[in-house]
Amino acid sequence: MTKHIIVIGGGISGLAAAHRLTELNRTGSIELRVTLLEASDRLGGVIATEHTENLLLELGPDSCITDKPAALRLCERLGLTDRLIAPQDTGSKLYTVHRGALEPLPEGFLLMAPTRVGSVLRSPLFSWAGKVRMGLEPLIPRRPDDGDESLASFVRRRLGREVLERVAQPLIGGIHASDPETLSLAATMPRFPEMERTHGSVILGTRRAQKHRAQTADETGARWSLFVSIDRGMEVLVRRITDAFDPGVVRLGETVRELSWNPGARGWRVETGRAGLEADAVICTLPAFAAAGALATLDAELAGELEAIPFSSTATVNLAYRRSDIAHPLDGYGFVVPHVERRKIMACTFSSVKYAGRAPEDIALLRCFAGGALQPALLDQPDEALEAQVREDLEALLGISGAPTLCRTTRYPDCMPQYNIGHMDRVGRIDALLDRFPTLALAGKSYRGVGIADCVHSGETAAERIAATLMQGSSRQALS
Ligand SMILES: Cc1cc2nc3c(=O)[nH]c(=O)nc-3n(C[C@H](O)[C@H](O)[C@H](O)COP(=O)(O)OP(=O)(O)OC[C@H]3O[C@@H](n4cnc5c(N)ncnc54)[C@H](O)[C@@H]3O)c2cc1C
Repeated sequence: MTKHIIVIGGGISGLAAAHRLTELNRTGSIELRVTLLEASDRLGGVIATEHTENLLLELGPDSCITDKPAALRLCERLGLTDRLIAPQDTGSKLYTVHRGALEPLPEGFLLMAPTRVGSVLRSPLFSWAGKVRMGLEPLIPRRPDDGDESLASFVRRRLGREVLERVAQPLIGGIHASDPETLSLAATMPRFPEMERTHGSVILGTRRAQKHRAQTADETGARWSLFVSIDRGMEVLVRRITDAFDPGVVRLGETVRELSWNPGARGWRVETGRAGLEADAVICTLPAFAAAGALATLDAELAGELEAIPFSSTATVNLAYRRSDIAHPLDGYGFVVPHVERRKIMACTFSSVKYAGRAPEDIALLRCFAGGALQPALLDQPDEALEAQVREDLEALLGISGAPTLCRTTRYPDCMPQYNIGHMDRVGRIDALLDRFPTLALAGKSYRGVGIADCVHSGETAAERIAATLMQGSSRQALS
């Protein structure tokens, strides 16, 4: 008998879940009908690409990572391999703001771990005391207990305050739009505490991992750079997935309000503002706070755990300038801004330098990030005021003389789950509570990774688990 599965949320997590179910249906091992419910009038969630004035604007994400393979594998299955593009070669240079000016981050700095002594010694980013402190890292004893720790505490303890303020906060805290004093290391960068445990040092651990990666890449002929994008923007991925769906799968404008279990019918009822739908199983990919709202009457304890995951808000500001109006050579992927510099911008991507085909030759396209957990009040202002502050920083840092030819602000309220200390314990409790409902799965950015690759993995894993549960149920029914 055909089983009906409802996927809630049309961001990349929900799309990946619905797509995997469609693939499983086509294998013929189980007969499935899939419905995807999305509140807004478009699919993709925070993934959005705009084409205007010969520019390709990424309003949200601009790339995905390849060392977590789920997104790359999905692109391969969708026939997108030929359309994946690597960043252009700028020597992978990334700048940071130091005492009001742009300075290159020392080569070989991997998130928090310096791997090249020479470039750190030459860098003006750190004082001599800071450089010595960093060099002593291999001698710092391991932490005796292996409980969770904040990013700030770990980096201060192992590498010193300057590495935290100048590198780890803007790079790692920036990815999560988070406060490093509360950000959980176990949930965001588990490989670093693991290096401390196994190698006694993140510097030695990182060097050994690099050597191993280089060897493996040589042996396997690894094809992709660490990050990839798509020639006509990340929204191509959304369209390709949607094209693979049967007609009628997607229902836009359906805001899910409540999810309830009908023990008599052994099925789920999903209430939206417009309709009530019945299903054999549900995959909910909503942000945790929205999932909490939908599940509140089903299980208050589960809803309470979901509600407790905080979120921060960000905005991107895409700006196009005449190249000749910018004094800086723009010879890198962009810059990050340490919070101690007291600027409004968190980071800026030199979009037209990073990926080919984003702007005509005589235009520089720049994308700035603002807000996050450290500067939430910035987003309380209207767009014009926010744009003026972003421009003031940008124009001072890059030596820009003219006005932008385009300025596009996109707000992402409550978009970034904050994986605070103890997050993985909470996720463990959520998993345990979900054991009561074998035909309900939660997936998406709120739990085990915010990147697109993590979200694809979580959506696909949920789809496979739910299909397997339904298959077991069917065979049990068939036997009885
Ligand atoms: C500005 C920005 C830049 C980023 N850059 C990168 C990057 O370069 N690389 C990378 O890997 N990651 C990046 N990320 C992170 C990554 O893009 C996201 O974490 C990921 O896309 C989230 O996908 P999702 O499906 O879990 O959630 P979302 O994209 O938030 O999707 C959730 C969906 O649920 C819908 N919804 C909400 N409530 C309801 C309801 N009640 N009923 C029905 N539908 C509902 C929403 O409308 C939305 O479509 C970035 C994120 C942001 C915000």
